[in-house]
Amino acid sequence: MIAGAELETFIRITLGPDAAERLCSKEGLPLWGSIGFDAFLARDGAIWSEREDGVRQQVTGPERLTHLLIAAERRPELQGLLPIRPPAARTCARCSGQGTLELASAVGEVYLVMNTQPLRFYCPACGGIGFDAE
Ligand SMILES: [Zn+2]
Repeated sequence: MIAGAELETFIRITLGPDAAERLCSKEGLPLWGSIGFDAFLARDGAIWSEREDGVRQQVTGPERLTHLLIAAERRPELQGLLPIRPPAARTCARCSGQGTLELASAVGEVYLVMNTQPLRFYCPACGGIGFDAE
């Protein structure tokens, strides 16, 4: 995970000085948003989700990767924030490396749903990258 000065430089090069300034602000750089919440990237590499009622919480683990993935789908310049698959990485067993699952298999889970037909959702085990990142 890139963070700190390296992340700031990456954002400055890919998205420009205004975005780098937002990254360093208290709120962070807006990554993407949907109904009722927005996701922000902080200079330390943390991702924060803020609901419309103002509740803000850090997003960790596979869900953090999902937020980066969605942001990179919308702004391809951010692909560089995604982990590169190491040669020895294990393919995710839950999604067989697909990164997504059919919505029907998501019963009982709350997760980020993709805007596809039919609806799919990002794999909660790998965050959508298709392999075990750690
Ligand atoms: Zn998976």
